Amino acid sequence: MATTDNVDPAEIAKFEALAARWWDPNSEFKPLHEINPLRANWIDGHSSVAGKSLLDVGCGGGLLTEAMAWRGAEVKGIDMGEAPLSVAQLHQLESGLEIDYQKTTAEQLALDMPGAFDVVTCLEMLEHVPDPSAVIAACAALAKPGADLYFSTINRNPKAFVFAIVGAEYILNLLPRGTHEYEKFIKPSELASWIREAGLVMTDASGLTYNPITRHYRLHPRDLSVNYMVRAYKPQAG
Ligand code: SAH
Repeated sequence: MATTDNVDPAEIAKFEALAARWWDPNSEFKPLHEINPLRANWIDGHSSVAGKSLLDVGCGGGLLTEAMAWRGAEVKGIDMGEAPLSVAQLHQLESGLEIDYQKTTAEQLALDMPGAFDVVTCLEMLEHVPDPSAVIAACAALAKPGADLYFSTINRNPKAFVFAIVGAEYILNLLPRGTHEYEKFIKPSELASWIREAGLVMTDASGLTYNPITRHYRLHPRDLSVNYMVRAYKPQAG
């Protein structure tokens, strides 16, 4: 199997089409802008990223990638979308950051740079990939022994369907219709078993809950019913 087989061109095309608006906080990317400080602080709070090598898989236009670089990490961002990557490249010039962006897959980079990173993040991407477990295994291979890994996605249940698809795409018009496909959402139990199969140990999880009245997100330690993220580590060899 080629290292680019686990890429769905239709999914990449969705992000290519929107990429120019990636850094507009009132665009289709508003939800990502809103959750960005919450997730960046959660990751930095656990992993103190300053001075560490960090890989952001499926980095898109670079929201989390830049947030990690601002916090002092030495960052590499990878994505299979050309347009999101060019947006990310241009934006980092504006920000005066030095992020190493590259068009590649986690599976390919795992062959080129195994065991290279202190921290690996892969946020809001697994639900756009044909085989998420293969991405998780590749992230595990990219991590140094002892490294921390972070994954985020959307749960699959009736509430997630109502919030993430009906609410976000049809009522509040936060996201373009068709951004997310219900069948690709991932239950925490599924994510946990893929993490375990990749030889990683899951340590923490947090929900990112959206209040449709105040229209704000917040971290919720127990409510993983819609958006959520998890932390795992790669055990030391032996
Ligand atoms: N992680 C970023 C962007 C999420 S959007 C954030 O949370 O802010 C999802 C991104 O995943 C898009 O930029 C899309 O191009 C990318 N993507 C989808 N499938 C991919 C794959 N198989 N390999 C690499 N990137 C992929």
